Amino acid sequence: MADAANCLFCAIASGALGTEFIAESDRAVAFRDIQPQAPSHVLVVPRQHVAALRDLEPDDDVMAAELLRLAAEVARREGLLAGGYRVVINDGDDAGQTVHHLHLHVLGGRKLNEPLG
Ligand code: AMP
Ligand code: ZN
Repeated sequence: MADAANCLFCAIASGALGTEFIAESDRAVAFRDIQPQAPSHVLVVPRQHVAALRDLEPDDDVMAAELLRLAAEVARREGLLAGGYRVVINDGDDAGQTVHHLHLHVLGGRKLNEPLG
């Protein structure tokens, strides 16, 4: 499991990989998923390393709220508000978490079925 020094999304969030940000704020950045599951598929991640949702602490409350606000901002910029969109967080193996840096998936642009997988 990656720590901050060896973490793909830390590298992306720092700008080191030159990834284009769809939106950003003080504590979070948003960029396109490399393997999109919908016409719009954007990831929102904190700039600081947090491995998973379960690792959030009370000191992270402002950042956590910012992640949600940025997810909605992404949906607005992607033109998803009229049709609707979904925000997903996978935490742990059964949910299919593969990158161990907290991220919100923002999905839209098509009818999304089976909301609970
Ligand atoms: P999860 O399965 O919830 O951990 O989601 C991880 C997501 O990260 C997957 O949807 C991947 O397609 C995506 N991903 C992996 N590597 C990259 C990358 N370099 N740039 C953008 N998205 C990525
Ligand atoms: Zn990280």
